[in-house]
Amino acid sequence: ADTGAVLEVNNLSVSYDRSPVVRDLTLTVRSGEVVALLGANGAGKTTTLRAISGLLRHAPGAVKLGGSDLAGVAPPARARLGIAHVPSDRGLFFGLTVAEHFRLDGQGVAGDIDAAFDHFPALRPLKDRKAGLMSGGEQQMLAIARALARKPRLLMLDEMSLGLAPVIVGRLLPVVREYATTTGTGVLLVEQHVHMALKLADRGYVLSHGELAASGTAAELSRDSALLAASYLGGE
Ligand code: ATP
Repeated sequence: ADTGAVLEVNNLSVSYDRSPVVRDLTLTVRSGEVVALLGANGAGKTTTLRAISGLLRHAPGAVKLGGSDLAGVAPPARARLGIAHVPSDRGLFFGLTVAEHFRLDGQGVAGDIDAAFDHFPALRPLKDRKAGLMSGGEQQMLAIARALARKPRLLMLDEMSLGLAPVIVGRLLPVVREYATTTGTGVLLVEQHVHMALKLADRGYVLSHGELAASGTAAELSRDSALLAASYLGGE
């Protein structure tokens, strides 16, 4: 066991019906690290996050948070233990305002909401705006701010850049980086903007057809452009 690890995934395998989608995946996220989970469409990245959240079944020992085995722990209990998962659809309610989202999460205290706004000052004037009337970038800020307000030990972000202009992604990613460094939260980031992700990440894992194809520091992975290109085309 890795004692500095927030998250340990050990030989994780996940199947839909009987077809295996993730096979024998082992990875670690340590306190304060940003770790990129990369791979082509369909490689199994979302499935991995869903298993870590408890939305998909996995074997005992396959997912540990702070050294504790999460087997049999349901998603809401995992959230209470400190796992925050922002799905690629962002999980917002279009009819609810920014402030109402925080209340929904039990972050009724003004101080909690304020702390979340400190990370994304652009949200502050939008407190009473309905999520459905906000831009994609503003919605993503809200989705991440909600997750941060819960002070997670592990933050998982699935395709936070989906539908956003690269310039917006370029503003959101550094906030996540800074948050991890200053709070010690571990971040597991699924991101299509590979080069942007690797610029900010400490380490990365590349999935191919549900299996680990490569892992290393962000610098090492960035240098292996052939590997990254192959995994993104889904070829190989
Ligand atoms: P993407 O970036 O497209 O979301 P991904 O790497 O996140 O890709 P997954 O969404 O984890 O990949 O999907 C992995 C495989 O599992 C794909 O072949 C997909 O078709 C299959 N799959 C995903 N969800 C289900 C499901 N609910 N039932 C059956 N198969 C599924």
